[in-house]
Amino acid sequence: MSQSITIKQDSALQFSQLIVSWYHRQGRKHLPWQQNKTPYSVWVSEIMLQQTQVATVIPYYQRFMKSFPTIIALANADEDTVLHHWTGLGYYARARNLHKAAKTIRDDFQGKFPENIDEVIALSGIGRSTAGAILSLALNQAQSILDGNVKRVLARCYLVDGYNGLSKFDKTLWQLTEQLTPTQDTAFYNQAMMDLGATVCTRSKPNCEQCPVQYSCLAKAADLQSQYPQKKPKKKIPEKRTIMVIPRIKTHVEGNEEELVLMEKRPPTGIWGGLWCFYEITELEQLNALLAKENLKPIEQQLLTEFRHTFSHFHLDITPLVVDCELINSQEVNENNQQQWYNLQQQSNVGLAASTKKLLTLLATTI
Ligand code: SF4
Repeated sequence: MSQSITIKQDSALQFSQLIVSWYHRQGRKHLPWQQNKTPYSVWVSEIMLQQTQVATVIPYYQRFMKSFPTIIALANADEDTVLHHWTGLGYYARARNLHKAAKTIRDDFQGKFPENIDEVIALSGIGRSTAGAILSLALNQAQSILDGNVKRVLARCYLVDGYNGLSKFDKTLWQLTEQLTPTQDTAFYNQAMMDLGATVCTRSKPNCEQCPVQYSCLAKAADLQSQYPQKKPKKKIPEKRTIMVIPRIKTHVEGNEEELVLMEKRPPTGIWGGLWCFYEITELEQLNALLAKENLKPIEQQLLTEFRHTFSHFHLDITPLVVDCELINSQEVNENNQQQWYNLQQQSNVGLAASTKKLLTLLATTI
């Protein structure tokens, strides 16, 4: 059963007033997405900021908005170009959902971001909190939010038991955030709560002396800050292994020798969905069949040092295998929508999986 916490109206008002005046004194006001705010700019920034630090997001956000200044521009872009702008940010489903939702807005809302919260939540990749953030920050609608920062502040202020992702914990916090969110100045309040969690009520060593709600915070009163929110119980995540095959050929382009490596596009769903990756095999015995299928004759091969890529639900130990090849019976390389020969001497505008990027850097610098 979830905890039920009812806040007196005057206490809620006092809480939000303290938070809003702190925002005017200390809140962040100069981030790129806080200038000339629109639902689109807030939406893109909110999606990029999920699981990612502000400093990392800034250059990605700026490049993204320059290339796709409007929802229509994003909707009309091809997926590879969108994913290319996300290369390095991780959690690529975010970019695919953003693109998909932009198409829905283009097709079903004449390109105008919907202003009804239920319609916003129905868009791909937008949850209740993100919808609340977009509508409150861009349009000052009185909508509540509950991102990780807000959860931490409220769990400490009201000693809410549980951890992120536990449904009774989230339920209690939604009830709290809805009671506390003011109907006026909602944009300032929500921005302040996110800023307070990010800069003052931090995960470790919260700076309570600088906190506007320190006198009503139950965790501070009981010196329990470090115990709220509680840590999610750790489960051991499985380990998997794979061999990434990097077929490489030499070719001549306008008199210059260039090297090409063969990649495939992953299916749209699943890990690295829609991104370009090297072929995978589980046993070395499968190599010849793979090369033969691609019309390739191996000349020399080299196993590189294994490295680990960790996803949220498993570790993947990757052994790269570079195979220098020749084309059999053909001077032309075969390419299609799902397969390309990537030129190591020229950067290409396609979405690359993190492991692919890492291996390309390795190929460019060492082998
Ligand atoms: Fe967080 Fe400390 Fe403020 Fe409580 S007093 S909300 S623990 S920073």
